[in-house]
Amino acid sequence: MSARIGLFGGTFDPVHNGHISIARSFLQSDLIDELWILLTPHPPHKSGEFQTAYELRFKMLKKVFSGEKKVFIKTIENELPKPSYSVQTIRYLKEHHSDNTYFYCMGEDSLVQFHTWKYYEEILEECKLLVAQRPGESHEEVAENILKRAHFIDHTPLDVSSSEIRENVANGVSIIDQVPKEVIKVIEKEQLYS
Ligand code: ATP
Repeated sequence: MSARIGLFGGTFDPVHNGHISIARSFLQSDLIDELWILLTPHPPHKSGEFQTAYELRFKMLKKVFSGEKKVFIKTIENELPKPSYSVQTIRYLKEHHSDNTYFYCMGEDSLVQFHTWKYYEEILEECKLLVAQRPGESHEEVAENILKRAHFIDHTPLDVSSSEIRENVANGVSIIDQVPKEVIKVIEKEQLYS
């Protein structure tokens, strides 16, 4: 059976309320039937940065989205050759689940950087982009060939990022308003970011 799939890639270190709200907005757009979260082992654009173990980031995602029937956490990028170029993932999926239609989902900050992604023109040939607003970002400077393939969805942006959360934990600042309780439990148990 064919389905419209939104692919939402990221490092999710950690997953936060901004990701949850954006995931819901993608689904509420009615442009997709399911959202597949692609947990990236090590994205090309964050090559110099330390990352929390893949299994722990996966565990936090699983806990957060366990109640969302249309959200699936996918580990394919951990199985495919590294670095994890999105075009490789999209082509793999199109080959192995060829009935589906794919959309690549992202926040506006990623759209603004999109022209720096390796093989971004090939991504545009493979699928359309679904983009949700992110605070502090404007897409005025984004090139026409990218905007032509981008569809903006309704979204009330939440001003939160994983880097801010990591910094808050390191400085002993509460993150209770930024991540769900399940995530705080994992961060505390595994002593992440401190
Ligand atoms: P970091 O601060 O470590 O760069 P991040 O918070 O941007 O992390 P990622 O895992 O890198 O999180 O992002 C995955 C996807 O989620 C990207 O497409 C990014 O644009 C989007 N995203 C993250 N936070 C938000 C937010 N608050 N609003 C809208 N989009 C977001």
